[in-house]
Amino acid sequence: MDQVDPRRLIPRTNDLLALPAVREARTRLNERVVRELVRKVQEQARRGELAPGKVEPALLAAVASLKATTLRPVLNATGVIVHTNLGRAPLSAAAVEALVAASGYVDVELDLADGSRSRRGAGARAALLAACPAAEDALVVNNGAAALVLATTALAAGREVVVSRGELVEIGAGFRLTDLMESTGAVLHEVGTTNRTHLHDYAGALGPDTGCVLKVHPSNFRVDGFTSAVPIDELSRLTAAHGIPLVADLGSGLLAPDPYLPDEPDVASALAGGADVVIASGDKLLGGPQAGLLLGRKEIISRLARHPLARAVRAGKLALAALEATVAGGLPPVVEALHADVEQLRRRTDRLAEALGVPVEAHDGRVGGGGAPGFPLPGWALRLPEGIAGRLRTGHPAVLPRVHDGVCLIDLRCVPPTDDDRILDAVRQALATLDVADAGRAG
Ligand SMILES: *Cc1c(COP(=O)(O)O)cnc(C)c1O
Repeated sequence: MDQVDPRRLIPRTNDLLALPAVREARTRLNERVVRELVRKVQEQARRGELAPGKVEPALLAAVASLKATTLRPVLNATGVIVHTNLGRAPLSAAAVEALVAASGYVDVELDLADGSRSRRGAGARAALLAACPAAEDALVVNNGAAALVLATTALAAGREVVVSRGELVEIGAGFRLTDLMESTGAVLHEVGTTNRTHLHDYAGALGPDTGCVLKVHPSNFRVDGFTSAVPIDELSRLTAAHGIPLVADLGSGLLAPDPYLPDEPDVASALAGGADVVIASGDKLLGGPQAGLLLGRKEIISRLARHPLARAVRAGKLALAALEATVAGGLPPVVEALHADVEQLRRRTDRLAEALGVPVEAHDGRVGGGGAPGFPLPGWALRLPEGIAGRLRTGHPAVLPRVHDGVCLIDLRCVPPTDDDRILDAVRQALATLDVADAGRAG
């Protein structure tokens, strides 16, 4: 008798699609995605890589672990608070709530009382002005880079932006603020030298072609030694006398001074010093969603808001909702991580170290994300073998440790204390598989 071709035993598409778990998956995943999964599993069986009887369980396992998003939550155990590769600032509970509420239809640009169209993002604007009374007006755009492009385009396209050579910053991934500004059609008029720029350098550059003067906070590097820069309050007297707008790009997004970061500029002080417009990011030290904040003088902010480019860089409703709640709600995780109590960090680290039988060492966290460069945040870390790092990153939950000097370090500064036990489990699992692998290699 002929043998039955095992391929004929492979379950049919319609039967697989009708399985209860697969039907459930078809309600939370796109039909095309589910069918593709079915096709892949059948294909494996046709190639003989999977027995026909194993098709159904393989499909069920695949369907159970498949989500509509491929973005995976990560526990940040690097000690770097504003981690650009991890999406910068984690949102506060208030911001998350606002984000979810705004995900449906929401009155982002509507006055519910009289049914007319209203100013977009009025709530976020009001929250920013309440938190920063020195600002006459505020505008929120897509991100800090967009804020800078909008300001330089509206104030200086076809004219000059006067900027110090000590402040020509590359902000990461090869993006230079200078290229960004030149892309707007403004001409950069560089003054001073890399290490020293004086008031007379600016004074000599101002003229009928000057569109604005720009101060950029060198947020991700430090020049030490024989240096000098002109502070905003001195520069603003010069620009005001010439009737030229002074734009200050602070980067970080601190609205008011933080005694913990004495060298980090803040919006309130820059405005008090006479800056006409201040630019900051929403997702750095402010601890909110990706956004670019422009705060300052009423005439200038409305000039920017009316510019056609403003429409191309406007903030979405989700960002506006989360930003307002970040400013008006409880402390965001970024601020908590920055001010984390060292003793408490030690106790949390010790507890995990004891449970795991691994050593603890002193470890400095960092602000990151181009903020407070070189400013260490003293703390502690679990010390683990380097080989465990990959397993931690790809485990459940995913944990990103710091790998440094041939060891893998777990710093709890940016981990919510309620997640300590998840870290413990993740490290246990990773250590166990590492031991197995080591034993395998030895044998
Ligand atoms: C981070 C930064 C920017 C860019 O802001 P994004 O929100 O990342 O677009 C611009 N200028 C300075 C000084 C910065 O630190």
